Amino acid sequence: MYDYTKRTSYHDKISEMRNAHKTLTETSFKPSLPERGYTNRTLYVNLTTLEVKEKQVTQQMKDLFIGGRGFGLWDLWNAIKPTTKWNDPENEIIISPGPLGGNTQYPGSGKSLVVSLSPTTGIPIDSNVGGYFGPLLKFSGFDAIEIQGKAKTDVIIVIDGQKGKIIIEEAPEEEANSHVAAEQFTHMYAENHDDLRNVSVVASGRGAENALIGCLNFSWFDVRRGASRLKQAGRGGIGTVFRNKKLKALVVHAPVVKGDMNHAADFDRVAEVGIKMHQELSDNDLKQCRMRRQGTAHLVEVMDNYDLLPVKNFQYGNHPDTKKIASEVWDKRFTQGIPDGCWYGCSMQCSKGADGHVVKSGPYKGHTVTVDGPEYETAAGVGANCGIFDPDWLLEANFYCDTYGIDTISFGTSTAFVMECWQRGILNKERTGGIALDWGNAESQLELLHQMARGEGFGMIVGQGVARMKKIFAEKGWGNAGLLKDIGMEVKGLEYSQYMSKESLAQQGGYALTNKGPQHDEAWLIFMDMVNNQIPSFEDKAEALHYFPLFRTWFGLNGFCKLPWNDVEPVDNHKHPPMDAAKVPEHVQNYCEVFAGITGRELTKEGLISMSETVYNFQRVFNIRMGKGLREHDLPPYRSMGPVTEEEYESRQERYDKQLKELIGVNPSGKSVQEKIALHRAYREGRYQKLVDAVYKRRGWTSNGVPKLETLQRCKIDLPEVVAVVKPMLLKEGIRD
Ligand code: SF4
Repeated sequence: MYDYTKRTSYHDKISEMRNAHKTLTETSFKPSLPERGYTNRTLYVNLTTLEVKEKQVTQQMKDLFIGGRGFGLWDLWNAIKPTTKWNDPENEIIISPGPLGGNTQYPGSGKSLVVSLSPTTGIPIDSNVGGYFGPLLKFSGFDAIEIQGKAKTDVIIVIDGQKGKIIIEEAPEEEANSHVAAEQFTHMYAENHDDLRNVSVVASGRGAENALIGCLNFSWFDVRRGASRLKQAGRGGIGTVFRNKKLKALVVHAPVVKGDMNHAADFDRVAEVGIKMHQELSDNDLKQCRMRRQGTAHLVEVMDNYDLLPVKNFQYGNHPDTKKIASEVWDKRFTQGIPDGCWYGCSMQCSKGADGHVVKSGPYKGHTVTVDGPEYETAAGVGANCGIFDPDWLLEANFYCDTYGIDTISFGTSTAFVMECWQRGILNKERTGGIALDWGNAESQLELLHQMARGEGFGMIVGQGVARMKKIFAEKGWGNAGLLKDIGMEVKGLEYSQYMSKESLAQQGGYALTNKGPQHDEAWLIFMDMVNNQIPSFEDKAEALHYFPLFRTWFGLNGFCKLPWNDVEPVDNHKHPPMDAAKVPEHVQNYCEVFAGITGRELTKEGLISMSETVYNFQRVFNIRMGKGLREHDLPPYRSMGPVTEEEYESRQERYDKQLKELIGVNPSGKSVQEKIALHRAYREGRYQKLVDAVYKRRGWTSNGVPKLETLQRCKIDLPEVVAVVKPMLLKEGIRD
């Protein structure tokens, strides 16, 4: 919570700031509620020309792209050219909640999907985020907002679904940093205290202006805390695009949310399955995951126990100090007893907040704030992966990443990379401008973050992300290019999220064979593969790498949160055969029921996968159109596949020697560590290529990773403009039909 005691007359200040706004354009529209989940129109805003217009949602869009991520990809495809760069005016930011988004019956139904051309990858990025913006946008009258162009000065876009106005205003005085911006704009556009919850703000921050790894914060007003809370669309630098367009905030002001705003085809059908799920969460959460008390931070020690927690730039998988940042610590730091759902009706309530953090550094030093998190990814990435095991500093970094609009995952992986470069002598004080980057140095880590926000120093280099740093360091002759390639944890330009994949071949593919880059929201197969050995053959792994990315894609088409799917399971889920149990069949059926109940369109489990397959293949073709998306772009760094250095090998010598004997058929005795590392590398890299062959075959792609024409036809996306991208690639491989 912002420290209002430091201000005199907060509301006078808000009025003064609003008076300083200059309206650039104001457009009227007729507010409307969705029918069967769709409003059937989207909102287009051009910040260069100040054009504001409604666009019709076509039946083709609904049939093929469904909503959410699908709508975003389709809009972006039509907005940009193969030569478009992230900072060109024609790049867009599209936000869409999906047809099921905003229902208050089924837990986890308030997500917005954000799509843009990423600054770090140069291909489309999609990011899934909580908070109220997407649903409130829909309940104002729009299935998506599509923002193109660039403003000359800092502006905000206000969508007022109570008054039927869309306004673009210059907003010179408000702070860009999210924890302040969200509070200020929420209070500015709410009519009264009861109306605060009907306002949601999207903002980024000063860090996103200077780094490529900027994120967006989506707010909701937490009635019990009396404060705005934040959820992040973290990945791929969309916050950087946002600030590059000189957007300070998006504000939506919607009607009061009620039970059936989506006007479901069969409301009772949705309510019935929702009630069942609420009961299940209530009965099982404390026994299974304790999400209501600890959020995803409950995973910290689980990952450590299985050697999966990234430590020191993914060198190691556990650490004796993990207990200092484990779930029990967060259980005490998080305020308990407050329902922490990031959308109405989410009884999982995992959006935990640590109230009362007194800021130690930077421009807000001395302020008392609520930190939204940390979630597992932040604790693992900003913490363990950088050798930092101090919860106070983790809260500090979490707070500043969020308010500066910096993605904690990319920040964690990027700072872990430079810390390893420091360890190996690739960086020194002369090269970092005096910042010591030894493992565990939390103050230095924070200073990098403050430098990003100030636009100065070595923090600006770190803010470019791992892929660009590897290039910069190699060009300067700092370190060996091969080593930098091996230890720089990125694929396609996106930094890895925070799981060790060395001992799970399926997860190596789960990360590197993603469309957007290595983010676990597409596939998380480590337990199935490594712990439970349920997918032993290449074909088994390929089947999992077909099904799960498609299943998870479906959440993003419809506005769902993944967590209620499998973080709590029915008590008898284990009675299914193991491969089926991993899918949580009862919950999959729930999603089919909710989809049919809201849209009136019946859906089978197989049909659900087919829906996603269409969008997934479309995104793959989109990547190819933008110059990535072939086999060469699906290659992971070796650090994600096996031991790069002697220390890494020796830390697990017994395991690796055993594997040499049993898997590779080589007697390790008498071999040097370097020889053993080379043997592992040849084996693991060969095995990865075989996996890629099996996955491409299962997905209906050529050996170069190009979707075949028959695949496009099956997915009904053999549209002329899609085929035109694929055809030359197929011809290069000698494939004519
Ligand atoms: S499960 Fe957690 S993150 Fe997902 S919608 Fe519910 S509260 Fe938000």
